[in-house]
Amino acid sequence: MSKCKDFLRSIVEEDLKSGKYREVATRFPPEPNGFPHIGHAKSICINFGIADDYQGHCNLRMDDTNPTTEDTKYVEALKDAVEWLGFDWGSSVYFTSDYFLQLYDYAVKLIKMGKAYVDSLDEEEIREYRGTITEHGRRSKYADRTIEENLNLLERMKKGEFKDGEHVLRAKIDMAAANIKMRDPLLYRIRNIKHFRTGDEWSIYPMYDFAHCLSDYIEGISHSICTLEFENNRAIYDWVLDELGLELPRPYQYEFARLAINYTVMSKRKLLKLVDGGQVSGWDDPRLPTIAGYKRRGYTPASILNFCDQIGITKANSMVDVSQLEFCIRDDLNKQVPRAMCVLDPLKVTIENYDGYEDIDASYYPHDVPKEGSRKIPFSKEIYIEREDFIEKPPKGYFRLTMEQPVRLRHAYIITCKEVIRDTSGNIIEIKAEYHPKSKSGLDTSGIKVKSAIQWVSAKEAKKVEVRLYDRLFSAELPEGVEDLNPNSLQVIKNALIEPAVIADRPDERFQFERQGYFYADPIDYRDEKPVFNKIVSLKDSWSKKKKENNSEPRAQTTTIQIDGEVAPMNEAEQTLFDKYTQKYGLNSEVANTLARDEQLSSFYEESLSILSSPVSLANIVSNEVARELKQMEVKELKFTAKHISELVKMLDDDTISNKIAKQVFEVMVKTGKTPIQIVEDKRLIQISDPSEIEPIIDKVIANNPDNVAKFKAGNSKLLGFFVGQVLKSTGGKANPKIVNQLVAKKLQ
Ligand code: ATP
Ligand code: MG
Repeated sequence: MSKCKDFLRSIVEEDLKSGKYREVATRFPPEPNGFPHIGHAKSICINFGIADDYQGHCNLRMDDTNPTTEDTKYVEALKDAVEWLGFDWGSSVYFTSDYFLQLYDYAVKLIKMGKAYVDSLDEEEIREYRGTITEHGRRSKYADRTIEENLNLLERMKKGEFKDGEHVLRAKIDMAAANIKMRDPLLYRIRNIKHFRTGDEWSIYPMYDFAHCLSDYIEGISHSICTLEFENNRAIYDWVLDELGLELPRPYQYEFARLAINYTVMSKRKLLKLVDGGQVSGWDDPRLPTIAGYKRRGYTPASILNFCDQIGITKANSMVDVSQLEFCIRDDLNKQVPRAMCVLDPLKVTIENYDGYEDIDASYYPHDVPKEGSRKIPFSKEIYIEREDFIEKPPKGYFRLTMEQPVRLRHAYIITCKEVIRDTSGNIIEIKAEYHPKSKSGLDTSGIKVKSAIQWVSAKEAKKVEVRLYDRLFSAELPEGVEDLNPNSLQVIKNALIEPAVIADRPDERFQFERQGYFYADPIDYRDEKPVFNKIVSLKDSWSKKKKENNSEPRAQTTTIQIDGEVAPMNEAEQTLFDKYTQKYGLNSEVANTLARDEQLSSFYEESLSILSSPVSLANIVSNEVARELKQMEVKELKFTAKHISELVKMLDDDTISNKIAKQVFEVMVKTGKTPIQIVEDKRLIQISDPSEIEPIIDKVIANNPDNVAKFKAGNSKLLGFFVGQVLKSTGGKANPKIVNQLVAKKLQ
C-alpha cells in the first residue's frame, strides 16, 4: 500500500465507511488499439492498486467500440502488461462489445422517454450547430422526429441500411449548456466495418460517453477512475445513469492527472506511427515507452511499480522527468543483479612477464547485495581491456592506465604499461604490459597504489557478444514526432567480449557489466551461439552525459566510476570525510567517494557548503561539473569560485531557474567568470512563473493556431500538449511548465 493516502483512496475509504458500497470495484478500461505504455501502467497501478488495498476487485475491460482501429493482438498485449506488472483480473477479461445488446436496449429506452433522437446532419453541420464557448448551440431540425420515427431509424441503422455518417443517435440534453459536451452528445454512430469480435453483427457502435458509464454500471463498478481530460464528460456520465434511473450502488467518475514524461511521446497514435513508419523495430522496441518495450529492454516490474508509486496521484497535470524512471530501475537492479565484466571496445594487452594460466575466483555480488554466487575468471598472458581505459597523454584527473600510471585489473593484478604498438596509420593496436606478481586482488602485498580498477577479459576464453546500447529515442524535451528523433538512440556493438562464465552459467538474465551499466539478455534474439545483451540503463545520470553526445570522441570521456574494492584504500582523512558525507549529508557513496578522495574537490565542496546549506545539490554539481573542469585545470585557474556555485545551486533549489537553464548558466560561467545571478539577468533566463507574463504568450499561441484550437474544442483534448509545447518553445524553455500547463488548460476551456 502507498505510504500516504492519495485523494482517490480517501474517497474510497469514505465511501466504504459510509456504507455507500459494500465492496470497492474498479476497472482498467483500455481501448485495444495499440500497445499499452507507461501512462497505462500508472492507470493500472491506480485501479488494481486501489482494489487490492481495500480487498475489492478490478476488472480488465477492453473498451472495444471502434472497430476501425482495434485488434486482438492489442488485447493480448494489454493482458500481458497487466500480468507482467503483477496484477490479477480474476477469471475473465471483459469487453464492452459483450454489452452491445444491453446498450442498444438502453438507447431504445432513452428514445422512448423522449431523451434521444436520430440526427441526420452531417459531421460538419453538427460541429457548426454545436456553437462555441461564447455562443449557444442550435438544435437540429431532426430533433423533432417522433419516437416511432427514431426507433425505426435506429433499428435500420443497426441493420446496416445506411452509409457511415448518414445518421447518428444523440442524447437530447441542452444545446445551450455551458459545458459544450452536454450539447446533445452523440450516443451512436454508423460504422459499416467488421468488428474483431462481433464481426458484421452491428453497423452501429456506441460512443465512449454512452458505453462507458453503462459498462461500468453493468459490471457493478463503484469508482470509475479516468484521466482529467474527461472531467467535462462526467456530466454526461451522470446524465445517462440518472435519466435511465440506475440507482445506487451505481458508479461515479473521478479524474486524476495523466502521466507525461519529458523526452517521450505517449499517445498510442503517435507510437503507432513510429511502429508503422519503421523508425523502431516494433511495439516492443526497447526504446519505446511501451510496457512491452520496457520488458524487452530489461526493466523489472518492480521498478515500474515503484516509479508509479513515486509519482503519486494528483489532480494537476505536470511533466515527470525521464531520469526519475531511470533512477527507479537503477535502484532496483543495484540491489540484486550479478556483476560481470564485458569489454565493449577491446584493446589487446599482452602481459609480457606472465606465462601460464589461472582461474580467479570472484563473487558475482558486491558485499552489500544479499546474495551468494561466484564464478571463475580465466587470466592469461593475452587479455583485452576497454580502449578508453588507456590514454597516452591523459588529461588531469584520469585515473586509469597511462604510460606512467598503473591500474588494477578488477579481481586480478596490477599492471604497468611498457610499450604501445601502433598500426601503420598510427592507431594503437596493442599494449605491452607487465603485471606485478604480488598484487593479486585480496592478497596484495605489492605496496603499489592505483586509483582505479578496470574491466578486462582473457583473450582466448572470452566470448563474443552483441551489445545494443540504447539512448533516449527523442532528443527534444517535448517531442512532437519523427522530426525530434535522436539519431543516435541505438548503437549496436557486434564484437564485444565477455567473460565466459556469464554465458556458460547465466546466473541471471540481468547483469551489471562493471563500469558500463545494467544489461539484459535479449529475450528474443539471444542465442547460445550468438548472445545479445540490451543496455537497460547506465550506472549513473549526470549532466556531463549530454555534453558527451556532441563530442567527436563520444566514448572517450566516460565519467570515471569508482568501483568497490581493489582501489587504493582511503586514508584516514578521506575515510572521515566519506563517512561524514554519506552519514551526515546523505550523499550516495559514489558522489561521496569522488569528493572524499580528491582534496581539491572536497575543499571546494566544503567551502560552497559553508555559504549555502544544500549538501546534496551542491555535491552533485561539484562532483560532476566542477570535477570535470578541474580535470583540465587547477583550482586557481578556474574562473569561478565556490561562491558562484552556491549561488547557482540556490537559484536551482528555489526554482528561479530550471535544470536545463542551470546547465546553460554553468557553461557561460565557466567561460566568462560572471556570477550566475548576473548571467541569468543578462540573458533573462529566470524561470517565468508569473501568470501575467505567461498569459499573453499563450494568447498569441492560441491566436496563431486557430485550426488546432478548433480541433481541441471539438474534443481532441490531447492537443493540450501541443499548446504547452509551443508556449515553452517561445519562451526558450524559461516558462515554468507546471504553470503553463494550468494556464493553457484554463484558457482553452
Ligand atoms: P492514448 O492517448 O495513449 O491512446 P488513451 O487514453 O486513448 O491513451 P485508453 O486505452 O483509452 O488510452 O486508456 C486506458 C486507460 O488508461 C484510461 O483510463 C486512460 O485514462 C488511462 N491512460 C491512458 N494514458 C494515460 C496516461 N498517460 N497517464 C495515466 N493514465 C492514462
Ligand atoms: Mg484513445
